Order: sequence, then C-alpha cells, then structure tokens
Amino acid sequence: MLDFLGNLERTHLCGTLRASDAGKQVVLMGWVNRRRDHGNLIFLDLRDRTGISQIVLDAELCPEGHEKGEQVRPEYVVAAVGKVRLRDNDAINPKMETGEIEIEATELRVLNDTKLAPFSPSEEAIQNEEVRLKYRYVDLRRAEMQRNFRLRHEITLAIRDCLSGLGFLEIETPILCKSTPEGARDFLVPSRVHPGEFYALPQSPQIFKQILMISGFDRYFQVARCFRDEDLRADRQLEFTQIDLEMSFPRRENVFDVVEKFMHAGFAAAGVDLPVPFPRISYDESLKQYGTDKPDLRLPGLVDVRSAFTDENLAVLQIDPALPIVAFRIPNVGELSRKEREDNHPMFDLKKGAKFIDDFKRLAKGFPESAVKVRELAGAAEADFVIIVAGDPAHHIKASDTKFPGRLSEREINVYAAAGNFRSELAKKYADRHGAFKVTEEVVEAAHTRDAKDPIDGSLAFRPIWLTDFPMFEFDVATGKWMPAHHPFTAPYEADMANLVSDPASVRADCYDLAMNGLELGSGSIRIHRKDVQKQIFASLGISDEEAHQRFGFFLDALEYGTPPHGGIALGLDRIVMLLAGAANLREVIAFPKTAKAIDLMADAPTGVTEQQLKELHLRIALKS
Ligand code: ASP
Repeated sequence: MLDFLGNLERTHLCGTLRASDAGKQVVLMGWVNRRRDHGNLIFLDLRDRTGISQIVLDAELCPEGHEKGEQVRPEYVVAAVGKVRLRDNDAINPKMETGEIEIEATELRVLNDTKLAPFSPSEEAIQNEEVRLKYRYVDLRRAEMQRNFRLRHEITLAIRDCLSGLGFLEIETPILCKSTPEGARDFLVPSRVHPGEFYALPQSPQIFKQILMISGFDRYFQVARCFRDEDLRADRQLEFTQIDLEMSFPRRENVFDVVEKFMHAGFAAAGVDLPVPFPRISYDESLKQYGTDKPDLRLPGLVDVRSAFTDENLAVLQIDPALPIVAFRIPNVGELSRKEREDNHPMFDLKKGAKFIDDFKRLAKGFPESAVKVRELAGAAEADFVIIVAGDPAHHIKASDTKFPGRLSEREINVYAAAGNFRSELAKKYADRHGAFKVTEEVVEAAHTRDAKDPIDGSLAFRPIWLTDFPMFEFDVATGKWMPAHHPFTAPYEADMANLVSDPASVRADCYDLAMNGLELGSGSIRIHRKDVQKQIFASLGISDEEAHQRFGFFLDALEYGTPPHGGIALGLDRIVMLLAGAANLREVIAFPKTAKAIDLMADAPTGVTEQQLKELHLRIALKS
C-alpha cells in the first residue's frame, strides 16, 4: 500500500549530511539503493542526486516504519523522517561521504514502488548498451551518469559565463531553416503549408551567425544544437551540441585567445588546469609529424629517418627512396616475441602503398648501422618499440597522385597517414605499458573526486593543439573539380589571393582546427566578407551564379549590405565533456542519444506515421521495405 506525500517537505539532500548535522530533524526523499534486513533493524541506503544516506528502521522506535521497511525493495521511492545521529565508531564508513552519520527514522512513507528493471542503477554499467539505452531513465540514475551530466552542466555554465564576460551575446538561430554549407547530408522537414517544400535542420548556425555580424551584434555565441545525417561513430551523433561563436573585426589571434580563455574556464570547472596558450602546427607539419590532422600529442610523433639508410639498403629493403621514411616509438613496450609482433601486422593498412618494418632483429642483423641510427633519430630508449614506415615501390602511381608544388603529394600523405594510423592503433594496444593515457584517466579520476577547489595540473593529460595553414581547395579526381577543404565562406590568405585562378593548389585558407588527444574538437575560419571575393571563390569551385544563388542567395544578398570583416569557430561540447568525463563514447555524455544504427531505443524513433499525417504534409511513401 503506497503512501501519499501529503504536506511532507524535504529538508535535506541525501548526500549532504555530515557529522556536524547530528541532532537535526530531517526529511529525506529518494530511491532505495540497497536494503539490509537485520531482524529488528532494517537499513535502507537512500539515494538522490547528491549521494546516499543510511536510514535505520528500528522495530522498537518506529514499528510502523519498520513494517513498511520489510516491504520496500530497491528502487522504491520513499520519504524518511527522522533524526541525524552519529554512527557507532565501528559502523563508520570512511568510503561514504555521509559515512559518519545515519538517520534514526521516526516515519517512513512509501511514495512509489517499481517494476524490476533489467539492471540495477546501484551497480556499474552493464555490458549490453542496448538495454541501457532502452531503460535510459534507470541507467541515468547511476552515479556515473549523474556525475557526467553534472559535469556537463558545470562545464557549459563556465563556458557561457566566460563568453558572456568577454562581451559575447547568446542569440538563438532557427532550427527550421535552409540548407547550410557544412557538406554533410541534411535532415529535411516537409512543410504542411507549402506543399512539396522542405525546411532543412541546421548542420550549424553558420550562415545565421555571419548574418548576425552583418547585423552589428559584434560578438555572438550559442550553445547550439546541430544536425547532420551522417553514419554514426563513437565520437559522432546525428544531433550534437556546439559552442558556436562569431566575432567582428577579428584577427585569427583574437579567435584563438577567446577559445583558449573559455576552454581554460571549462576545464577549470572540471577541476583541471589547462595550460594556455595552446601550441600550434601547420596542417602539412601535422601530417608529417603525426600522420593526421588530429594529432595526439600524448605520445612521441613521427621522425624522419631517411638519413639512417643508404640507397643500397633501401633497394634491398624494397623501400621507395622518393617517399618519406619515418619512424615512431611507443615507449616502454619491452621485448616482443615474434608472435606478438605478427599479431600487430593486421593493424597496418597496406592498401595505401606504404609498408612497415618492425622486425628490429632482422634490420639489426642485415643493417646494424641503420638500426642503431633509426633508434637514435627516434630518441628511443631500450624498452621502446620502434616502427619504421616507408613507401612501397610496388605500389602503382595513380592519377590521384597529383603533385602540387610546395604541397605534399597523395602518395606522401598516404605514407604519413599509414604511419599515423598504425601509431594510434599501437598506442591503444600498448596503453598499459606506455602509461600516457593512464595519466589522463588519473587526472579525470582526481578531478571527479577532488574536494578542494585547487585545479589539477592537466598539462600532460589534455594536449590541445591548433592546426593552421590548411589548403583552401582539395582536388577531386573523380569530378576533376576543386572542392572547398572547409566550407565555401572561408577566406583565403590575403597574400594568396592572386593565385586563386592560376594556382589554386597553393592557396591557403585562413581557417583553423583545434584538436586534442587525437580528437578534432572544432574548426573555424576568418570569413569572406566581400561579395567580389565570394564570387571568385564560387567560380574557382565551379559553383555557378545560379547554383550559388539557389543555395545561399539570401546570404549573398546580405553580404552586399555593409558586411564587416568577421570570423569564428565552433567547438564540439559533447566531445569536450566526453574527454573530461573520461568517457569512451559520446553516448555517455548525451542524455538521450541514438544508437550506432541511428535509433532512439527508449522513445522508439524513428517510426512510421499515419496516412493522415502524410496527407497533411503532401507526402506519399513510395518504397516500403
Ligand atoms: N560552422 C563550422 C562547423 O560547424 C564552424 C565554423 O566555421 O565556425 O564546422
């Protein structure tokens, strides 16, 4: 039999009572985390968002409450009325924040019972994530999830506060709008009022934030929801949240400065001191040093070891002398057996025309001097595992291997990328041995359990880096056309403008990415603010006036009405929280995420709709599978 709440008022939260509260009359409400029946004494661990308090139901002091206590089960919702008392010395639980006290109950009200869920929120996450997502309301009760969302709130609040303090206004932009230029697939929403016409959900507020600059708002930001119809991965969701900002009259340095400030504030909210300013690297250098544009600086990068080999060595080793020869080391891996080495081989992507040598015994036997030199160049200690990656001469040069002067060729990039991928795969595999990722885990753990306000040094755990000097265009061999490497509103470097038509490959874009620990956190750019330049870019991209007008006409019109120079950036909030929560997956920091198959298992979406709804929207389903 359930009780009514009546006029009972909660006085305290379960996780907040301490020894100094002894003697206080309290009313606590929450879920029964655990129940222990010791005959005359029943103990309930009562849980709410803040933690747990132990309730004692004594058959003599509170016979009615004790009787109810016999009926309640984990996850029942109850209210306990009683007095805070100090526990006996031998009953003190130092692991619990409220471990010095307990509540001597005088009344228990059972406010609700529960069906038995397939897992208990008082325990660690179960392996089966689909079940967690289906019963998300139960899963979110787990302490870890409560902690993640509290963290998310605090980080977001700190970032908002910081930006507001820097003079940014938060302004909302439409969700039902027109296609934006991020290059992913749009979600479309049919219009009931305009048969056959569709809104697009924003892939980002890009055009609107630029228009806000034309409108004189000077500094805009938004914690903005973005929608991209892409295949999902661990670090990708159909809808995600960006810290989106735009500013007028900025130099790139101003954007960097703002981002470094709000990142510092956001990390401080999670108890981590993130050193600023962030280091910088050009896109080409990043490819050369890390084999990727999302470098993970927690481990040593790639080193050019060409000088360790003579041409004869290379011929015997069947290495293409014209391509890069790089080595990387994974620290502290120790001696590996032949079998252990061979088990690593499938991780290497051979398709790209690159090959690797990890058999140091073989190299050391055939070419002892080269072997010593490689280790020396790589700065390898005795226990470090060193891999050499080089070009495979047997790999055919394809049409895509267009070599642009001053830029890396496709084949060169492939060698670097193959090395970069192999490096990150091996880094994951040997994480226990090199310990670099452990530092991150330890800082996250310390930040979660900190009791002081002193931030924890995050300089080794979180390694941000700016990437600059991206190429403006990428050549698409299939269509024979130049494509924007970023979105088409990105400004070229003023110094490169003269080459837009004559030498597009050499044009650099004034855009930038922020990467951290091997993840892309965000990107932005200084924008084109002049209509003549915008026209030139569209022309270079082979976008006709008509197409440009059809896609972004309103924006091109707006550009003609006194557009100030402007620029901005957007950073993925979900990813930032994921890093600071120490989570392996975005779904751990998004309350109601979609599965990898793009399904909301709890709400059961997407689903079919009624004929009537389709009719109202002037739609007919052509294919039913
Ligand atoms: N709109 C861009 C994006 O979402 C970011 C920017 O250029 O500000 O990637």
